[in-house]
Amino acid sequence: MDQELIISPNDKRQYSLITLPNQLECLIISDPNTKISGACLEICVGWLDDPKEYQGIAHFCEHMLFMGSEKYPTQNDYTSFIQLHSGSYNASTWLQRTKYHFSIENDAFVGGLDRFAQFFICPLFDSSCIEREMNAVESEFNLSLADDQSRLWEIFVQQSDPQSTFNRFGCGNLLTLNKPEIRDQLLQFYDKYYCSSLMKLVVYTDKSTQELGQIVHDIFSLVPNKGRKRPLHLDNPFKGQFSQVDVVGIKQEDYLFLNFVIPNYEKKYLGQPESYITHVLGHEGQNSLASFLKDEGLVTELIVGSQRLNDQVSEIYFEISLTEEGFDNYEKVIGFVFQQIDKIKEKGVKKEIFDEIAQIKHLEFKFKENSSSVLEYIEKLSENMHKYPKNHIIYGDYAYEQFDPESVNEILGYLNPNNMIIFLRSPSFAEDKDDEDFMQETYCKTKYRKQQISNEIFQIIKNSNNLKAEKTHKIIDIFPPNIYIPQNFDVIQEKDENQYPIKIFENDYIRCFHLKDNQFPICKGSFGIQLFPNQDFVIDQNERVLFDLWSNIFYSQFEETLYNAECAGLSYNLDSAYNFVAFKVHGFNDSIFKFYKDFIQYLLDFHKQPKKYVKKHIFQVQIDDLQDRYENYFMKSPYDLNASYWKCLIYKSGKFMKEQLREVEIKMNDFIQFTEKLFKTIRMQIYFHGNISKDTALNLCQLTNQIFSEFSEPNKQIQPLQIIKIQKNQTFIFEKLITENPEEPNSGLRISYQGDQSLDPTLNLYFDLLNSIISDPFENQLRTNEQLGYVVYTTKSNRRGIHFFNFIIISETKSTKQIANRIDIFLQSFLAQELAQLKEDQFEKVKLSYYKDQSQDYQNLNEKFKDFWNEILINQNDFDKKQKLKERIDSITHEKFLNFAHNLFKDSKRLEIHIINQKHLDWELEHQEKITECEWHNDLFQLN
Ligand SMILES: [Zn+2]
Repeated sequence: MDQELIISPNDKRQYSLITLPNQLECLIISDPNTKISGACLEICVGWLDDPKEYQGIAHFCEHMLFMGSEKYPTQNDYTSFIQLHSGSYNASTWLQRTKYHFSIENDAFVGGLDRFAQFFICPLFDSSCIEREMNAVESEFNLSLADDQSRLWEIFVQQSDPQSTFNRFGCGNLLTLNKPEIRDQLLQFYDKYYCSSLMKLVVYTDKSTQELGQIVHDIFSLVPNKGRKRPLHLDNPFKGQFSQVDVVGIKQEDYLFLNFVIPNYEKKYLGQPESYITHVLGHEGQNSLASFLKDEGLVTELIVGSQRLNDQVSEIYFEISLTEEGFDNYEKVIGFVFQQIDKIKEKGVKKEIFDEIAQIKHLEFKFKENSSSVLEYIEKLSENMHKYPKNHIIYGDYAYEQFDPESVNEILGYLNPNNMIIFLRSPSFAEDKDDEDFMQETYCKTKYRKQQISNEIFQIIKNSNNLKAEKTHKIIDIFPPNIYIPQNFDVIQEKDENQYPIKIFENDYIRCFHLKDNQFPICKGSFGIQLFPNQDFVIDQNERVLFDLWSNIFYSQFEETLYNAECAGLSYNLDSAYNFVAFKVHGFNDSIFKFYKDFIQYLLDFHKQPKKYVKKHIFQVQIDDLQDRYENYFMKSPYDLNASYWKCLIYKSGKFMKEQLREVEIKMNDFIQFTEKLFKTIRMQIYFHGNISKDTALNLCQLTNQIFSEFSEPNKQIQPLQIIKIQKNQTFIFEKLITENPEEPNSGLRISYQGDQSLDPTLNLYFDLLNSIISDPFENQLRTNEQLGYVVYTTKSNRRGIHFFNFIIISETKSTKQIANRIDIFLQSFLAQELAQLKEDQFEKVKLSYYKDQSQDYQNLNEKFKDFWNEILINQNDFDKKQKLKERIDSITHEKFLNFAHNLFKDSKRLEIHIINQKHLDWELEHQEKITECEWHNDLFQLN
């Protein structure tokens, strides 16, 4: 069996597939170099298997399995054990699958695995936990209640045939679960579906496959085999249900969704016909539908995807973000979609397009690198075990072996107006929501209206070939071949002894680092560019808005190129920060060199002649889009709002409050002037990493230097990033009342304790160790016992060498003032008890476990690049931190740590951010302004 499993030639791990006597199939992965182990078990049962009377029970069952077993009866035994050993755990329920997984340090793996296995052997379903976990499910549901995406899903489900098992409310809440007989139902559900023959297990550790196979055998053979068959859902839930549904949205954005139900092509994965379709329809390069509609000012984004609905059917969906004009003319947008569909039908299915996708997929497989996260890797594989034949568990996603024009044509046949559901979502429908024809979805209570697709739309589709561009000369057609497909796969033999990035060039414009990587000898590489342009946008409000707008327009005019790069296997990230912009790119090095040159050239051209790139109608679209973004800022969840306000408050010259930004007005001329001056002064840091020689790096660097020294002056005044300096026993409070989103049921609180400013990198570790010690008791007390909310956790943050320790709670039942009070009481008892009683040997165990987790080596080139690049970005350059980890941890004694923790809380330099729900407000708000009356830390990491 072993030799049948196809793995990448670049994968050095050992794999073994075994089937236990109870028919449980297990994939065993041995990686002698890993410091982190993990396991994931997936069962092919999900919420489509919920009885109609108990919707959400599959999800509820997932929650209840964490609540103790016969062998380990204590409720938080499993979770505490994992947290104690620097691990993490989670579970999730989907339509037809439920998965459970955890990661942990190697030495604790067998202990963790045994606790984990009891979920499937002898769970208690303790009656005393039923009500509490039901509330947890209710909280989880409430978290998504104000989210447009989740609301639309429930409406989509409600459109399906009521007799179909697809017609289920997967999350569940008190309405569907809070019934006297629920425990009996849970036991029945578990007994009916939780059977070893329906489960697949993936385990990953440093032991040999043989040893690991034995461990798995000993533990998991006890999972009962009840001889159950995989539950199948073989109907078409959307038969004859084709209509247009107008949905009242929450956010300031208008969306058009087109859904086409097609047969499920999973068995034809060797030809991936669905991917062919989504590739050609969702393409964003030259001649593409997306590029056309954007330039016409009708849409800002177009995504095409496919999704499995059940064992019988899938869907192809279009997700289209409309501009104002696009919303007023959405029928025309639908017309253009069909013009593209017709064009593809007319030109026929093209082998060269399939070959291009296949070529990149095969290259990705051949040069496949280890995943950075053990958890993510095993999660994906457990899913694949249910999806592909055994030999293709790893290879299946990359197969693309059989060009299958027949299936593609078949799918194209389903993309017709008689097989389409239209969803149009807009906040503007709220005006009519009390009209008779509006209905209400059962669970999220979203208002919507359903009607027949109009004759007008059918006519437009029928005559779609007559539709023409009105504002540009663009056409919709088949896109040309991709110029970024790599051709050269040589690995440079040049010996470079450096382990860490070396500065290879520096002048007034550029500082350039380079590392030819010998740890991962593969034909890939990465680069990062950090640009400090004119700094006016850091200090001036109008300039900040212009800068936000610049980001939008600059990227949107480069999208065709970016998209092609992505199709050629390049991943990129564009980041606008407080005082700089940064780009990072990773991929086959042959492709990134070409891309680098194109990018630098575009950067120069755009700023030399912005007028050439900014068309008047597009400018207006981008202004509207920016306005919507500012408005939508306030529609974010209390959790996200809290994080955003936190950043906004701790930086002196950071982003302005969005309240101020939405007041600013901009004219085209302002924008052109802003853009012309933006890169007239420049300072940059560049980093090349991977299969890139020093000479190549120097050449690219000099090319950049040449281009910019002709166009720009060196930037000698980079703005410092100053962080708030909170005094001892000082508390800053910020309060934000949620008024923008009436559907939001939660409040959110974040309390931060600020530490001292220090250049000593060891300080970071003190905060991490504190987090390891406090997180479990914190969650146990406030989440499990007091049930304050579903999101309850602690975390540390480090900004410019200044640390914060944060307590975060999102709650639907308690006000932020009450929560703050509960946190204070918890802290007092934590200091007096848990911390006071923390013995030296216990502390040493925590240190050791933390060390094991953190000393995990880089798993792939890109992960290593990103870590080094982050050091360069913040100008800290602590590249050898993994090597120094042992020494740094050893320097932290029990006594020093206790002093640190006591001082942190005793000094009480505190920042509280309250995001307050109206229903929780029973006090007068006093702290709604940005904090200005305070001192600021110097920026120790300023680039100079
Ligand atoms: Zn859940």
